[in-house]
Amino acid sequence: MAAKPQYRGRFAPSPTGPLHMGSLLTALASYLHARSASGLWLLRIEDIDPPREVPGASDSILRSLEAHGLHWDESVLFQSTRLDAYAEALNTLKASGRLFPCSCTRATLGPGGSCLRRCKPGPDDPTALRIQLDESMGFEDQILGTQAPPGESGDLVLRRKDGLYAYALAVVVDDARQGVTHVVRGADLLPQTFAQLELLTLLHSPRPDYAHLPIVCDHRGTKLSKQAGAPAIDDKRALNNLRDALRLLRQPCADSPAATVDELLVQATADWDPRALARAAKEVLVYH
Ligand SMILES: [Zn+2]
Repeated sequence: MAAKPQYRGRFAPSPTGPLHMGSLLTALASYLHARSASGLWLLRIEDIDPPREVPGASDSILRSLEAHGLHWDESVLFQSTRLDAYAEALNTLKASGRLFPCSCTRATLGPGGSCLRRCKPGPDDPTALRIQLDESMGFEDQILGTQAPPGESGDLVLRRKDGLYAYALAVVVDDARQGVTHVVRGADLLPQTFAQLELLTLLHSPRPDYAHLPIVCDHRGTKLSKQAGAPAIDDKRALNNLRDALRLLRQPCADSPAATVDELLVQATADWDPRALARAAKEVLVYH
């Protein structure tokens, strides 16, 4: 029997703003999940959407992670350097016969944002490149348990009309490139997992294990996000921020007497208990 590959986890923020408590929680949980399995923790900056990027955000995210003791392994992978790999993946996917051009506008798309090959682009029309998917593969989420597929097929943009590659394509190509064995991320991305599993299969890439974390909301019940104006975390309060994140993750060591971020992380790694999180998975985590 082949030896199990070493655990390779990752954190993959997009540089659309500084880290906030929601993204710190994802970074911390993926870090602890990896370190508690003696695994590597990799970093990827998802900078493939220049119009949404905020200047300086990549640097600010890297600085915040370091201030919080979340040191990554290997060199940071910037998606902006990976355009050739995405083009190559599209070529591989062409062989499946499922790619098609789409000239739909937001107004003409069907339910769930699918085109369903209803548009008939003319030769000069700007088109996106879509793939038809079955979305028939379920998976076992390490926190949320068995996830049945949605039971309806659809299609997905892989390259946008403006020529930019879509997240769905880049994420699977780069998880494969970085040899990621475990994906720990927010539950808002869970619905996209079925399509990503299918893309991985079509690209002959291995399936990682997935664990989706509860979403962190503010006191009004709004998900903390850069778009909703979640405040940046203050790096000078790193130890307190980690304690807050550990509390949200239901980890007992949040109140330990550790005096430094490194001390706290060593203890949090030793005590990491994803089952405590599984019990909280159906709740909304509130941070204020
Ligand atoms: Zn269309």
